[in-house]
Amino acid sequence: GKGAAMVTAVAYRLAEHSREITQTLSEFRLTTEQLLEKRMKIEIQNGLSKSTQEAATVKMLPTFVHSTPDGSEHGDFLALDLGGTNFRVLLVKIRSGKRRTVEMHNKIYSIPLEVMTGTGEELFDHIVQCISDFLDYMGMKNTRLPLGFTFSFPCRQTSLDAGVLVTWTKGFKATDCEGEDVVGLLREAIKRREEFDLDVVAVVNDTVGTMMTCAYEEPTCEIGLIAGTGSNACYMEEMRNIEMIDGEEGRMCVNMEWGAFGDNGCLDDIRTDYDRAVDDFSLNSGKQRYEKMCSGMYLGEIVRNILIDMTKRGFLFRGQISETLKTRGIFETKFLSQIESDRLALLQVRSILQHLGLDSTCDDSIIVKEVCGAVSRRAAQLCGAGMAAVVDKIRENRGLDHLNITVGVDGTLYKLHPHFSKIMHQTVIDLAPQCNVNFLLSEDGSGKGAALITAVGCRLRRELNG
Ligand code: BGC
Ligand code: MG
Repeated sequence: GKGAAMVTAVAYRLAEHSREITQTLSEFRLTTEQLLEKRMKIEIQNGLSKSTQEAATVKMLPTFVHSTPDGSEHGDFLALDLGGTNFRVLLVKIRSGKRRTVEMHNKIYSIPLEVMTGTGEELFDHIVQCISDFLDYMGMKNTRLPLGFTFSFPCRQTSLDAGVLVTWTKGFKATDCEGEDVVGLLREAIKRREEFDLDVVAVVNDTVGTMMTCAYEEPTCEIGLIAGTGSNACYMEEMRNIEMIDGEEGRMCVNMEWGAFGDNGCLDDIRTDYDRAVDDFSLNSGKQRYEKMCSGMYLGEIVRNILIDMTKRGFLFRGQISETLKTRGIFETKFLSQIESDRLALLQVRSILQHLGLDSTCDDSIIVKEVCGAVSRRAAQLCGAGMAAVVDKIRENRGLDHLNITVGVDGTLYKLHPHFSKIMHQTVIDLAPQCNVNFLLSEDGSGKGAALITAVGCRLRRELNG
């Protein structure tokens, strides 16, 4: 009768929806050929060679860090950590000798959105204001401490203590900083305040700090990886391959700035309309395209764009696009991580969505979870493909059939997400079969690593001054 016909119609519509949902999410499935480790290798070479370096998207920036720690580093250092999830000021006390210890004190400060996107002077005055508070808190205003500045943005360095900001990334957009030496900007802000003095010894990318921290415990660590708000890696490259720097002997750590992979269009075939939408509405549209497919700051936005589209097509939320769903930035990494947790019952997914202001049915919750899974899986695979290119490059550099190496890792996505790390590791195994890669989680990499590099910088200075 009529009832049966209606049931059939509903069942048919659901089947049709489910087919279209699968179809949409299949755009996020990558084949092994699409995993791009070969394309990444090409861009790495372009970044290293003199003739292609200028136009290269993956910039391969020299860091002037020539070696990982040897355990002789010691002293008291101040460290700043700017550009991750939190802004922090740290005091790091390193003791060498038989019983090596690293003692750390730190305080987290917020950087208001207006300051992140205001003037450069306001930003650096705010940073120095936070340092001032920290020195009061530690009772150390009268000691002129050496400082390591972890500044997690692309910087063209000419020495350990000079770095010109190439471009802001992530949520930062302060004026009058791009093209300027950020160490100079910091020193000027310290002077403006006329309250205390510091000796800025090193500017450090967070990937480098992470590598150094892990290398302090594990000498085979020669790669640093951040899978957090942003995405990037560094590794020890042969001096002879870094054509922009004189000298053929030994190695230097190179900050890859791999987030910009794809900015020349080389990822266009795998980017989806959702990726393009996220890029278009970002602070730096057209830039950091790979980062926008693999890092915590953007995954939630990709998910949100898919959900909006699916709602418009009538697959979700009864076809109603709520104000919440229209709000940028609602899906932070921690929510994605919760939604994808295996231990979570659907009812709990529903309550997370509820908490975000999204009124969902059970079916909605299933779909949302699938969407999150598709987006984070692709992110982990892409990140793994990048890493596969790096380890295989190092293996070739050293003329080895087989390479054993350790990667120091940090970042909220890597640490908090229930599946990201596992999928990323597996991708590296699949794509770099001649490398045995060990991943080591870095605890507080940015702070400790900056201090270790600062210690080396101080030693080099003493040696230079006789
Ligand atoms: C920056 C890198 C940084 C990475 C991780 C990117 O946006 O360009 O310098 O290492 O984020 O924080
Ligand atoms: Mg050279």
